[in-house]
Amino acid sequence: MSVLVLAELDGEVLSPATARIVAAATQLGPVDLLVSGPQAVAESASGLSGVARVILAPATALAEGMVDLLASLAPGYDYLVASASTTGKDVMPRLAARLDIQPVTDIVAIEGPNRFTRPIYAGNALETVTDGQARHVLTFRASAFRPAAGGNAAPIETREATIASAARFIAAHRTESDIPDLATAQIVVGGGVSVGSAEGFRLIEALGKSLGAAIGATRAAVDAGYAPNDWQVGQTGKIIAPDLYIAIGISGALQHLAGIQGAKKIVAINTDAEAPIVKIADVALIGDLFEIVPQLTAELEKA
Ligand code: FAD
Repeated sequence: MSVLVLAELDGEVLSPATARIVAAATQLGPVDLLVSGPQAVAESASGLSGVARVILAPATALAEGMVDLLASLAPGYDYLVASASTTGKDVMPRLAARLDIQPVTDIVAIEGPNRFTRPIYAGNALETVTDGQARHVLTFRASAFRPAAGGNAAPIETREATIASAARFIAAHRTESDIPDLATAQIVVGGGVSVGSAEGFRLIEALGKSLGAAIGATRAAVDAGYAPNDWQVGQTGKIIAPDLYIAIGISGALQHLAGIQGAKKIVAINTDAEAPIVKIADVALIGDLFEIVPQLTAELEKA
C-alpha cells in the first residue's frame, strides 16, 4: 500500500500540520511526500520520520496546479492524502472529482486499511466509514494526530512539471504572528465575550505568552470585535486538540464545545459554577477572570 501526502506550507516554510499528517499516513503504508515549493522546504520535509521519498515539484499556490501535480502522480499510489485544512479542503475535493473517487474527509482515526473514523453533526457524533474503493482520497484532521519525529534523511527527487491554470495567483495576505498555530498548538488559552474588549484580550494574550500557548476565542468574542476571526474556535471556527485548553469567561455553548472535543485537559475560569464548561472541565477556578488571570500570569512569569 503506497501513500502520497501533499505537504502543506506556511508561506515559505513547512507547516507543522505536515508532520502530523505524515505520522497518520504511515499507518497506511510507506509515505512519499509531495512538496510544491522551495528546495529548503523539501529538505526539512525529508527529515520527517516515516517519509520514504520527497517529491519536489515546482511551487504553486493554486489548487488547480496542486491537483494537476497530484493527478499526474496518482496512478502510482493507493492513498492520496492531505490535511483537512483550508488548502486540503480546496485541493482534495477537486482531485477526487478529477479521479472520480468519493473522498473521505476530516478523518480523526484510522481503524484499518479502508476504515476511518470522522466526526459528523458538528462533532457531536463519530462515524466509522468503510471505503470500498480501489484508491482513496483522504483528508486528516492534523490536531487528532501526534507529529512525526525528525531525524530521517529521505531522498529528494525533483519532478519537472508545467503548471497550467486558468486562475492566476495575485497575492496572499497573511497575518504575521509569533503566536503558535491554533490548529496544532499543545496549549491554547481561549477567551469569551466576558473578557469585555480588545484591550481585555491582552490579559488572555499575556497568559498565553507565559505558557507558549496559542490564543482562541468564542464566536461571541469575535463578533463583538474583541478578537480576530482566525482565533474563533468551534463549529464554525477552528477545531483544536491541545494537551491543555484554558477556557476563560467561556460558557461552553455546544457550538464552542464542538471545536474543543479533542482537548486532553480543560481548565475553566468562570464566575458561574453551573456553566456547562465548568461541568466538563478537569479543573475549574470559580471567580472573576480579571482577578485570576493576572495572578496566574504573574505566578507563571516568576516560575
Ligand atoms: P457567553 O455564552 O455569554 O458566556 C460568557 C461566560 O463568561 C459565562 O459562562 C459567564 O458566567 C462567564 N463570565 C462572565 N463574567 C465573567 C468574569 N468576570 N470572569 C469569569 N467568567 C465570567 N460559538 C463559538 O464559540 N464557536 C463557534 O464556532 C460557534 N458557531 C456557532 C454556529 C452557529 C450556527 C450558532 C447559532 C452559534 C455559534 N456559536 C459559536 C455561538 C455559541 O452558541 C455561543 O453564543 C458562544 O459560544 C458564547 O460565547 P461565550 O462563551 O463567549 O459567551
